[in-house]
Formats: sequence, structure tokens, C-alpha cells
Amino acid sequence: MKLLIVDDEVEICDFLKSFFEERDYQVITATSGEEALEWVEKAKPKVVLLDIKMPGMSGIEVLEAIKQKEPGTKVIMVTAIETRDKIEQCLRLGADNYITKPLSLEYLENDVREKIEGLSRPSRN
Ligand SMILES: [Mg+2]
Repeated sequence: MKLLIVDDEVEICDFLKSFFEERDYQVITATSGEEALEWVEKAKPKVVLLDIKMPGMSGIEVLEAIKQKEPGTKVIMVTAIETRDKIEQCLRLGADNYITKPLSLEYLENDVREKIEGLSRPSRN
């Protein structure tokens, strides 16, 4: 199962990559929105963990582009500060969920697993 992790902080990418690789996910990381979109096209990940606050292209812009190009891709937004209006904007734009930093890995893994199980159900997408 392919998972794309997008965060401008390399340490967060590395940390999440090893966490999910230990659990047998195939993990790709990107440290910018532009790079993330390239991977979405090339690798077609099933789930994307997407940081909102990044220099250059923001997570919100990346979300919009993903939902346009690959609407079946599940996107979980990751945000340091829970800004109500930002989160609502993301959900309106098609985000499938959000998680706030500091990350609860257990919650995150459950959510990723849920999204993947949702994908294999015949009635969805
Ligand atoms: Mg960031």
C-alpha cells in the first residue's frame, strides 16, 4: 500500500516514513507541494499525509490539485495549529480527515488504515 508523506520538515518525513515502513507500508516522502504533486502523478499513492503549512505551495493548494487530478486519492491534512477556518476550508475542498501536531501515531495509523480499508470496499470509488 502506497503512502505519500508531505512535510517541509525533513525530520517529520523521516520519522513518519520509518514508522509506517515498519508497518509494511510503501512510503514516499516529499518536502514541498510541487514535489508532492509529481509523486501523486508518478506513483499514484492511495493515501497522502499532507502538511498545511509549507513555504511555496501550501498544503491547501496541494489538496486542491490532488483532488482535481486524482480525486480517488485520500488526503489527511496535518496541521501544527488547529485553525478552525483553515481546517473547514480543507474539508470543503475534499480533505478526508485532519490531524493536529504533535502527532498521535496510534491515531494516525488507525486513520490511514481506515482510509485504505475504505478504498477496498466495492461501493466506494
Ligand atoms: Mg510545515
